[in-house]
Amino acid sequence: MKWNKSRLLMAGIGVVCMWVLAACSSTGKKAAQTVTRPDFSGDSAYLFVEQQLAMGPRVPNGQGHTDCIIFIVETLRRFGAEVTLQKGTMLNYAGKAQPVVNVIGRFLPDSLDTRVPFILLGAHYDTRPWCDEEDEYQDRFHNVPGANDGASGVAVLLEIARQLSMHGTLVPIEMVFFDVEDMGTPDFYTGQQREHTWCLGSQLWAQQAAPEQYRYGILVDMVGAPDAVFPREYYSMQYAENYQEQLWRRARELGHGRYFSDEASYPIVDDHYYINLAGVPCVDIIHYEVHSGTGFPSWWHTREDDLSNVSATTLQAVGEVIISCLN
Ligand SMILES: [Zn+2]
Repeated sequence: MKWNKSRLLMAGIGVVCMWVLAACSSTGKKAAQTVTRPDFSGDSAYLFVEQQLAMGPRVPNGQGHTDCIIFIVETLRRFGAEVTLQKGTMLNYAGKAQPVVNVIGRFLPDSLDTRVPFILLGAHYDTRPWCDEEDEYQDRFHNVPGANDGASGVAVLLEIARQLSMHGTLVPIEMVFFDVEDMGTPDFYTGQQREHTWCLGSQLWAQQAAPEQYRYGILVDMVGAPDAVFPREYYSMQYAENYQEQLWRRARELGHGRYFSDEASYPIVDDHYYINLAGVPCVDIIHYEVHSGTGFPSWWHTREDDLSNVSATTLQAVGEVIISCLN
């Protein structure tokens, strides 16, 4: 993904409400309200990150990418999902045909009412072919390991899938593992500049989406760093403010407020942008550092995006917040 420098935020965000710590009991007395902490294992999610890194970079057209598709499909099936592959071809940054394979897994409640819309959970599984944020020019032609930028989001979704396999779901859930999110025009490319070169998987999905089938969506991207901070991303606020507020409120209630910041970020072109354009309100939970030079963490699109920058504690926090909103 990239941030959109041309759009400035119109206003900051105030804290909308405070969590009420006490509730009235049936006797009329005030009683401490216990927070229901959903089952989610950060350690299990971390293992899913390790398994992806063991495949090597998941760069489109490469072996690690193929292995990752098989891994996601088999894992989803093991956890009881109905799995389909959405295949197509999009034009890449150089105007060449690029195959796209989105992996879709659906989880349905036991008492199925087919009119109930899905909650969409999304993450991209591909990794960037170039480390174009490296300082040294010759280092920019390495593949990004993608521990955070790719594997972390997939890992959170797969751990949610594991929990759904044990506890079931109250609402229909569709997980979409997007392809070719991170093959946008590299900084060193000197050919003709094209628009919409990022997020090719979600652009394909958006072309075929039936928005009335969805209530809303949550996208996770770069959600594993020990010091992760998820600001209120601009497009999420514009298109899905109520859902964003619900997530950030749940984060505070669960004690994870240090990750979910009320600071506003620039618009970020990530998969949620195209999901929103398709008519499905979608919130992006993404690590963004408002005051850094690029806006993203120092390891972003470098060889440093490795396991040393992933924490099971952060994965746990993100997973708990999302699961607690699946109702
Ligand atoms: Zn990226």
